[in-house]
Amino acid sequence: MAWFQKTKKGLAPKEKAEVPDGLWLKCENCNEIIFRKELQKNRFVCQKCRFHFRIGSRDYIELLLDEGSFREFNVDLISVDPLKFKDTKRYTDRLQAAVKKTGINEAIRTGIGTVDGRKIVFGVMDFEFFGGSVGSVVGEKIVRAVERAREQKYPLVLVSASGGMRMQEGMFSLMQMAKTACALSEYAKEKLPFISILTHPTTGGTTASFSMLGDVIIAEPGALIGFAGPRVIKQTIGQDLPPGFQRSEFLLQHGFLDMIVDRSRLKDTVSLMLKHLCD
Ligand SMILES: [Zn+2]
Repeated sequence: MAWFQKTKKGLAPKEKAEVPDGLWLKCENCNEIIFRKELQKNRFVCQKCRFHFRIGSRDYIELLLDEGSFREFNVDLISVDPLKFKDTKRYTDRLQAAVKKTGINEAIRTGIGTVDGRKIVFGVMDFEFFGGSVGSVVGEKIVRAVERAREQKYPLVLVSASGGMRMQEGMFSLMQMAKTACALSEYAKEKLPFISILTHPTTGGTTASFSMLGDVIIAEPGALIGFAGPRVIKQTIGQDLPPGFQRSEFLLQHGFLDMIVDRSRLKDTVSLMLKHLCD
């Protein structure tokens, strides 16, 4: 099957899964061939070079919350097409395809769960749904989650994975930056903690709004985090960019992040952080 896809031009490319299918996988960073089950056991982190494969919202729910504790809310909020937008395909068709591909209704899932027994409001974005882009529904779901956390006095933990705002919704999507930022500033008045976890990639409008507004900002190793992409910046300023530009390690050095945490220690770190901030 793979041969045909390689040799015959014009065939539709296979949609890229979060982690490619197959019994054996090749690490994108060090080329190590890894047994899938082994990789799964290690939460999709290469044991040789610590490369973090991208994982989806379901995986983060399992990784960070106590087993079976997640109660999702606002599941049925779905996007409309306010601009009747069409490029090569209609926006509504793209949405339907994304729902079919991922089994979720939008690029974020929000709900209440527990971390080592402590109740939190939890939101997790899913890059597989429309590149994790933020449209009106993603913004609304975040605001509702923040408001729920404020009303019930729960800490808020948000996992970002996004290519930016959803351009098919034009200004409606851009407004979500201000909307989510406003909700978070109201939340902050209650002196409740917001832990923001940035995964690969966290780019565009998310970094210009909610993702960077955490009281504590944690990133996974090697994640691409930035507003405009390196190519655009290079063209604009006409200079070569330093090595490692816009990766977690670079951002930590320049004061944008509080810490970089390996996926294997993510839950313990969040739990400890919540203990420090809430008890
Ligand atoms: Zn590797």
